[in-house]
Amino acid sequence: IETKLPKVGTTIFTVMSQLAAEHGAVNLGQGFPDFSVPGRLVDELDRAMRDGHNQYAPMTGVPALRNAIAAKTQRVYGHRPDTDTEVTVTSGATEAIFNAIHAVVRAGDEVIVLDPAYDCYEPAIDLAGARAVHVPLDPATFAPDWQRVKDAITPRTRMLMINSPHNPSGAMLSAADMDIVAGLLRDTGIFLLSDEVYEHIVFDGARHESALRHPELRERAFVISSFGKTYHCTGWKIGYCIAPPALSAEFRKVHQYNVFCTFAPAQHAFAAMLDAEPGHYEQLGAFYEAKRDRFREQLLGTKFRPLPVPGGYFQLADYSAVSDLDDFEFCRWLTIEKGVTAIPLSPFYESPPPGQRLVRLCFAKNEATLDAAIERLQKL
Ligand code: PMP
Ligand code: GLN
Repeated sequence: IETKLPKVGTTIFTVMSQLAAEHGAVNLGQGFPDFSVPGRLVDELDRAMRDGHNQYAPMTGVPALRNAIAAKTQRVYGHRPDTDTEVTVTSGATEAIFNAIHAVVRAGDEVIVLDPAYDCYEPAIDLAGARAVHVPLDPATFAPDWQRVKDAITPRTRMLMINSPHNPSGAMLSAADMDIVAGLLRDTGIFLLSDEVYEHIVFDGARHESALRHPELRERAFVISSFGKTYHCTGWKIGYCIAPPALSAEFRKVHQYNVFCTFAPAQHAFAAMLDAEPGHYEQLGAFYEAKRDRFREQLLGTKFRPLPVPGGYFQLADYSAVSDLDDFEFCRWLTIEKGVTAIPLSPFYESPPPGQRLVRLCFAKNEATLDAAIERLQKL
């Protein structure tokens, strides 16, 4: 058949996880924790199912969870979205990203994407009949060049997508960046999609600059997050979108005919957790910072050169002292021959910087897993 998505194959995360499984490699590729979810969360999920919350949830999300999200947003970002008209619970951030794009992006529109970019953005744009306009981040620091973003804006631009902390680099946008974004979008019809799934995983005392903190930005933004990252349960696929009422109304039109509603028991469980244990997400930065520091120290004892990681749970590492292979071939070789799986960076780009020799390693792992990987990497 004539494919609607000619550029799309199987996602690199699936490709590398399958290869890791086939070869028994230590999998630091696909981003998921290999440790347990909080015990209390499992108890709450169990309770929700036993209490009979096993039928369709309300389309927009269980009210107690939307309330808890609104209260958390107030606590953390100083702005309380309206529970009924501005908060929608989704099947992971992936569904929210798809919905937001399809809610407002029309055929023939352009969407500005900053490369490297998470891989689900462009296919959703393509399916909307629109075009992704790729603007590269700085290849050394992964900071946006806002002048280039400005130059990429045309009368057809409908949306700008940002992601902080950033996958794959961990780079974070500053308050000054957010002011610049506000300036760029002022007096335009351009919407902002702010992918903030790593919002609570920030290091070195830095503050996550949510678009929700910014009165001007939140008027035109879809702010998207995921409980998968915050509660170590990527397989549960529960996320949410906060957007002003008019945008949420359009977003919900897509959501209601995409999935209608999201797994009800987990919504009740998260509602209980968010209110009862704010300490969980407050301490997430420190929890991952210790893992980042230990892993970085270990990598310094190998030929890999680790890049700085301001946030998120991925470590980029330059492997040019190990191999001249391109990043995809290098990751295949590392998995098959050396028993460690990483993610190549080139799939995150429209055109990868020539000669870039970077891989992404996930450190959301138990010490034993990271130690096993390091032991193998030390031999290279
Ligand atoms: N955006 C980014 C930047 C991500 O890294 C991920 C998942 N790793 C997602 C979106 C998707 O999140 P979810 O698993 O909740 O769909
Ligand atoms: N977001 C995860 C990552 O970046 C992967 C999620 C997926 O496999 N789709 O590794």
